[in-house]
Amino acid sequence: MKTLTVVCHFLLALCSASGISQTQVEPLPNSFVVKVGKFLDVAKGSYIEDAAIWIEGERIKEAGRFADIQLHAPQGAQIIDLKHLTVVPGLIDCHTHIMARIPDGPDGYTLNLATKSQAFRALEGAYDARITLEAGFTTVRDVENEGSGYADVALRDAINQGLAEGPRMQVATRAIAAVGQYNPFGVSPDLTDFPTGAQMVSGVDEARRAVREQIGHGADLIKVYADWDHPTLTTEEMRVVVEEAHKQGRKVAAHAYTPEGIRNALNAGVDSIEHGNNADRPTLELMKQKDAYWVLTKGHFRDRLKTETNPRIRKYLEETLQRARQNIAIARELGIKIANGFDPASAAEHGKNADEIITATELGLTPLEAIRAATINAADLMGWQDRVGSIEPGKFADLIAVDGDPLADITLLQSVKFVMKGGVVIKGALPQ
Ligand SMILES: [Zn+2]
Repeated sequence: MKTLTVVCHFLLALCSASGISQTQVEPLPNSFVVKVGKFLDVAKGSYIEDAAIWIEGERIKEAGRFADIQLHAPQGAQIIDLKHLTVVPGLIDCHTHIMARIPDGPDGYTLNLATKSQAFRALEGAYDARITLEAGFTTVRDVENEGSGYADVALRDAINQGLAEGPRMQVATRAIAAVGQYNPFGVSPDLTDFPTGAQMVSGVDEARRAVREQIGHGADLIKVYADWDHPTLTTEEMRVVVEEAHKQGRKVAAHAYTPEGIRNALNAGVDSIEHGNNADRPTLELMKQKDAYWVLTKGHFRDRLKTETNPRIRKYLEETLQRARQNIAIARELGIKIANGFDPASAAEHGKNADEIITATELGLTPLEAIRAATINAADLMGWQDRVGSIEPGKFADLIAVDGDPLADITLLQSVKFVMKGGVVIKGALPQ
């Protein structure tokens, strides 16, 4: 954990303005005033200029014009000077696989399971968590750990205890898939103990048991695989998952590509559709009717298209992005709630989470809509709307800063200059 970087003291600013001796007030260790050029009120979609954010401990006490904050904050508050930067709330990625650094190639997933210990997977996750935080993502919803047991629970708890550095995490642990319908594929049937990428179930009783086990071991949400090329878990199996998860106050995220898979998951009552690649208008209308979130996850398709040379794969990537463009237009027309999620699962992808936000704007969201998807909408999907996602009193002091106007140039989010999580500077305090 990096130490707090104290830039200067609020008392210095006050004293130099008032002529009072600078030695009269002791600096308060947990009191900060972040002086900012402007910060984004995400809900209103407008900036507060010549602003400041007063932080007490982990949380925001007051945010507004510097002239007002100056009157209210204690004299010993320490100043962090970001007056040349634009501050936005810490970003949220609702679809990560922090524990996964899957090698390229057709056997990459299998090799990942076969060659790495659970201990090594946990250490990989710790590294991914740190670079994700440094990229400005102060909260993630990690939607299954791809065969690393409950290492994601351990990582989440280690971060919360200050033993590792990373975003606030909600973790889905193992996920639930139909027997034989999720990675790894092609393993010899003789290897009966070979690890699986998800917890495989068949029937409603096994589905219910899996939810109970996962929540018992620390899952914050449940992930189901509604399809994999074709529908897999039945509506009945997913309905039991939703019933059991909701009973215990957990939400359910459904991987679903196909119209039928999306329909089955929505009719089972899931809270979000992840990907939704082959959605059509009727399934989007059902998504709206059920008030479910859509987590887009199109950034890695766009990124891969930049380097992919295989014509068949390029065609698939281009078609997926084109369909997403059409469906995002329908989603905006219908008023479907969209949350940001990049789906990183390899060494090359972790820490590039902002690519998803850029991609969403390339596919039809406005920059403000894309930022909302990665802040207030994401917080709402996670049930953490009272903790994160906006710069308001009472919320965690999770802030990032960029050099310029992200509403005019959204790519600025790919190079954040400053990151604060819970009142602790992670990156880039500017010395005076
Ligand atoms: Zn995923």
